Amino acid sequence: MLDSRYLLLCFSMIITSILYSQTKSEHVDHVLETVLDHVDHGHHHSDDYHLWERYLKRSHPNVAAVSSYFELASAEFGVPVELLKVIGQIENNWTQVGPSIDRGWGTMHLVENDYCNTLQGASDLLGVSKQTLKDDLFQNIRGAAGMLATFAGPNKASFTRIEDWFDAAKQFSGLISEELRYQQAQRYFETLKKGITSTTIWGEKVVIKPMPKIDISHHKPPTSSNQKETADYGPALANFTSCGFTSFRNTSIDTWVNHWIGVGTYAGAISWFNNCSQNGNSSAHFVIRASDGQITQVVRVAHTAWHAGASGYNNNHRSIGIEHEATTTNPGNWNDPDMLAASGTMACHFSNVYSIPKTYSLPGVRGHNDMPGTSTACPGTINWTTWWSYFNAACNGCPNNLSLTGTIANGTYTAGGTITATGVVNSGSNVSANAGNAVVLNPGFDGRPSFTAEIGGCKTSSNIPQKKNSQSSPSVEVQPAKKPE
Ligand SMILES: [Zn+2]
Repeated sequence: MLDSRYLLLCFSMIITSILYSQTKSEHVDHVLETVLDHVDHGHHHSDDYHLWERYLKRSHPNVAAVSSYFELASAEFGVPVELLKVIGQIENNWTQVGPSIDRGWGTMHLVENDYCNTLQGASDLLGVSKQTLKDDLFQNIRGAAGMLATFAGPNKASFTRIEDWFDAAKQFSGLISEELRYQQAQRYFETLKKGITSTTIWGEKVVIKPMPKIDISHHKPPTSSNQKETADYGPALANFTSCGFTSFRNTSIDTWVNHWIGVGTYAGAISWFNNCSQNGNSSAHFVIRASDGQITQVVRVAHTAWHAGASGYNNNHRSIGIEHEATTTNPGNWNDPDMLAASGTMACHFSNVYSIPKTYSLPGVRGHNDMPGTSTACPGTINWTTWWSYFNAACNGCPNNLSLTGTIANGTYTAGGTITATGVVNSGSNVSANAGNAVVLNPGFDGRPSFTAEIGGCKTSSNIPQKKNSQSSPSVEVQPAKKPE
């Protein structure tokens, strides 16, 4: 059937070819290089890292071009552009890569597994191959927009607000259970309400402007929800799988193992660990969400999760395994303070319960790829110094961050800019401290000074962001408190 959709498509393709300016491969960003250094080995699915590497090494449309694709797909299918943009940000940070842990593809996470197949649905709808949807960022967004419009059905004619798309977004999330689909749709809309800014691996900013009027309070969680606290760890929600683990341990717990999801989301990982007909061979005890540090428990601590297995070694029976929502396309998530605080606090709790050594050692705290016999890049781009600072903050009685607040006077970085800190302020580079707990920037300095503050043996440090004349006072980045070594 030839209809106006296909005419629009032709129009879209012309515009797209004009706007398809690509990031320059000769300017491969440092972050991309770092990520690529971490995707040359196998992980949960042995071939996935090779595919991620292949996708990330291709030239990639820049953020302005991707933004134009969202506009075109929105116009073609009548789906709000903001909804498309936020799904693309949460699922893959506007980056074309795949597969995710739950076998989703591309910026929009078109899923192809045995409980969901939006990839096939989009392929049928658009008349393009599944491979094209995996490879082509624009077609991937079009496919997602088409599926959202399909899920909304005839009702969409009466939609007046973006929240009216909640149920369609739920269905589009492609997750295994009603509660996970609800949870992910809630995340799309709550993120949209607050707005979000992230950085791609090519160093460009993805900016989703806040829509503060969004109200999804009338969309209630499913009554079948089993999301209650677990007996093993109070703050964690429960979403236990019935497969992919051993229901006993043959040795005592002495090790904590950090993982990254690699590609995919918190909800996607939980979904996949619950997919017993297709997965059944991997799991983790806990999964932690970036942005708010929400934790879900998937396997009981008394049971052995299959997360760091290697033949000839007893890695799994001795350890607790944690998946973090840090990914190749949004490695900045490894610095997410809420996720790190949740991780460090939980690691401290279990290190106390099971006398896990509080050191980077075996037994002790390890990354997946530190475990004997493993061949993986997981946990990817983790910054261990940062992770340990959160662990120490949780475990050594230091506050997560010292009270370190203040502003810098408008203007360039010159003398007179001050920042106050509670406790003793130590001098840092290009910064001098005065007796009144204030930091004074040296005259004419226009770099990124840093300094440290200390209370009762707990230390914190801060960088003052670079600022242009016209900008208002920048916020201060505060590192978590840390006991002196
Ligand atoms: Zn891992």
